[in-house]
Amino acid sequence: MKKIFAANWKLFKSPTETRNFFKSFKEVSAKATGDLVFFPSAISLEAASETVKGSNIAFGAQNCYVQVQGAFTGENSAQIVKELGGQYILIGHSERRQLFGETDALIADKVALTQSLGLIPMLCIGETLQEREATHTFRVLETQLLLGLAKADKAKPIVIAYEPVWAIGTGKVATPEQVAETHTDVHNILTKMGFTAPILYGGSVKPDNAGTLIKQPHVSGFLVGGASLEVDSFIKIASV
Ligand code: PEP
Repeated sequence: MKKIFAANWKLFKSPTETRNFFKSFKEVSAKATGDLVFFPSAISLEAASETVKGSNIAFGAQNCYVQVQGAFTGENSAQIVKELGGQYILIGHSERRQLFGETDALIADKVALTQSLGLIPMLCIGETLQEREATHTFRVLETQLLLGLAKADKAKPIVIAYEPVWAIGTGKVATPEQVAETHTDVHNILTKMGFTAPILYGGSVKPDNAGTLIKQPHVSGFLVGGASLEVDSFIKIASV
């Protein structure tokens, strides 16, 4: 399966910083060994769209609403992302689930809407430390997949990002054994449900651990937060 290296910029990088990043990144992007996808903040999407035009760099939004237009103050439209040339929507990131109360039911609607517009949902799943320590990881991931993909079209592309919540932004990366075991579980759950999808790992991926993690079974690439903000560190990760 083709590798995907995705960058979640969260609430970082203004439009000017976005343009500057891509001007430099385009000079090295040919080194990537898989597809490149960036998720800038919504206000910087147009800057990304203008600067990556004609390159091998894809982009998308970090979130969208379940309607494409209407009286929904403060929300983002997947239709507008598409108009800007975006190809992906990041859905169900743990920060959306934990800080903004997103439920699996809402996430399922976002996945369905994204696919219906011809965009690719990148669905994030992952367990908390408490859930891992209670040996509930498999059950949590299975539930997130069953509910989050309840309205998804199996014939259309989808990407899964497995991101243990305890490894996001903490510097605590999952061990290669944990990644191997959990990605195999996620792959088996998806297969049982009838889905074929790349499974990315996310959670404190850095240039010095990416080489080992990419070799683990059913790891098709990474979703990277902190280390995607610098050209050097992200291209090192994307060229493993
Ligand atoms: C993320 O935000 O999805 C993420 C994985 O962040 P970090 O790489 O900083 O842990």
